[in-house]
Amino acid sequence: MSKIIGIDLGTTNSLAAVWQDGKSVLIPNALGEYLTPSVVSVDARGTVYVGKSAKERLATHPNETASVFKRFMGTSKKYQLGKQTFLPEELSALVLKKLKEDAERFLGEEVEEAIISVPAYFNDMARNATKRAGLIAGWKVERIINEPSAAALACQNVKQVEEATMMVFDFGGGTLDVSLVDCFDNVIEILAISGDNRLGGQDFDDMIAEYFLKEQKVDVSKLDPETIGVVRMCAEQCKRALTESQTAQMTVKCPQINATMEISRKDVVNFCARIFERMGKPIRQVMADGHISVEEISDVVLVGGSCKMPLVQQYLAHVLKRNDIETIDPDHVIALGCGVCAGIKERNEQVKDMLLTDICPFSLGIGVHDNANSGELRMSYMIERNSALPISKQHTFFPHEDYQTLVTLSIYQGESLYAADNLELGKLEIEIPPRLSVQMPICVRFTYDINGILEVEVDIPATKEHKQMVIVNKDLSMTEEQIQAKLREFEKIKISPAKDEKNQYIMDWGSRLYMQCTGELQQEIGRKLEYFRYEVRRDNRSLKRVQKYMMVYLGVVEGMVNQFIKLSENDWKDGSWYQEETEEETQEKREIEDEFRTWEKENYDDSDTD
Ligand code: AMP
Repeated sequence: MSKIIGIDLGTTNSLAAVWQDGKSVLIPNALGEYLTPSVVSVDARGTVYVGKSAKERLATHPNETASVFKRFMGTSKKYQLGKQTFLPEELSALVLKKLKEDAERFLGEEVEEAIISVPAYFNDMARNATKRAGLIAGWKVERIINEPSAAALACQNVKQVEEATMMVFDFGGGTLDVSLVDCFDNVIEILAISGDNRLGGQDFDDMIAEYFLKEQKVDVSKLDPETIGVVRMCAEQCKRALTESQTAQMTVKCPQINATMEISRKDVVNFCARIFERMGKPIRQVMADGHISVEEISDVVLVGGSCKMPLVQQYLAHVLKRNDIETIDPDHVIALGCGVCAGIKERNEQVKDMLLTDICPFSLGIGVHDNANSGELRMSYMIERNSALPISKQHTFFPHEDYQTLVTLSIYQGESLYAADNLELGKLEIEIPPRLSVQMPICVRFTYDINGILEVEVDIPATKEHKQMVIVNKDLSMTEEQIQAKLREFEKIKISPAKDEKNQYIMDWGSRLYMQCTGELQQEIGRKLEYFRYEVRRDNRSLKRVQKYMMVYLGVVEGMVNQFIKLSENDWKDGSWYQEETEEETQEKREIEDEFRTWEKENYDDSDTD
């Protein structure tokens, strides 16, 4: 049996892991990195780029590049990349295809089965879309796992505790998910899930940007969209800098604003009070739903980029009355958990007795006419939130009126009393013979499987009719043949080969920096890129050295651009920028620079820079 791969298909980055030598191991991509940006780009020739080079192309080729498509999984949103159009699930399929290639290269064998994690709040349509994305990418996907379950699994596996009640706090760029997970005697059970799917790191960015503009007395209504974008980007950089130190400089330099100011963590606490207040709500909710007190929580597992903020960690320590909030790397923990899950599914000796149970994070039901005859539909719940999976429940309903000939069953997800305030998942229409309402019982069964995919069955005893449906967005539903056809179509798509990936990334990265810089530095970047392309074409032994050189060089330029350092020639020319290198590296760098200068002389005799 080939290895099963665990995949964290993230909004910002995706990662893969495998169970190997008794532990969950992250799989590096062709660049040797674990994080593959969930970004896809398609060039004019139809070549597809996935990951870091695609991310670079977001700036240089925005019309050919897509990101954050996970937010729209299960919807029919269309992405036009160059001449081609993609659905969010097709873009995810390209990321999954890339991860498959990386896994096969890493393991030196073909892999076919994947376990993919999804956010607990993902509805049926998004879960089905994730499954289809896997199938189109050539994976067999039997198991979808909730992200908090994966995080708890990783934590339990690392700590090897027999008994624990964990709070998984997953705080990303745009969403917050809080879950309570119980681990007892190899059984991992989700007790309760709550969250705020409109709260994330971006809210801090917005508040920092707002504070900056207010303090600088800038009239926001006069700013153009590009300037607002730049201010947001600087705010995010300032937030990241505040992760490293107590205070940070926020500098904005663009045609409409030229200002610098110092912002401290204390300032953030004050002007982001609303964010901290909102963070507290799902924490309280999840503890009420799980019937757990603060004292009963044994571990707090942090997931997601925003958990790196010391302020977030301090706030949690305060709310949860503890000072031992430590974690596995918040960027890796879900993928590691997916790797453990893969190990369980392979029935590996070390984890074969572990059992992972999941719950339904939201209530599911159908809309029925309310007793006040208001004409509005109220919810009649079939499955309550936080029910353990798999679950199957049946209820009997009667037509609203006597002699009705058509019954429409509207299926909803959500906690509001009135159906219209919840998310409609689908509709099922059933023709019935005209009878008195009491003579026409309609038996409805909801079955929610371990992957969180809902199946609705309807039986009409009077007509012996049976109807069955799996909830999918009707614009997107696909038959088995259509999936197979898509799979064949996707097999033909050329993802930029791994061998070229580093070269492509260097070219894309350099091109973006070239665009961002001006003057002599810009020209220098341009020539170095040309020289690099020349080395790529020669493709001899020296290429590896030049790649390494370019990665360091571009890294330094990036640092300068990000910090808005005022550049003087000596800041970047010939080696003065390069630090922390061994003697050998210095020697190698000098050699490459000499080779570059020789090449530059041959090609740019009588430099045109003046
Ligand atoms: P994720 O979706 O989990 O990758 O989280 C992305 C969010 O985490 C974004 O809002 C980032 O700005 C934020 N983030 C990532 N790294 C850091 C950091 N070192 N300090 C503060 N926020 C961070």
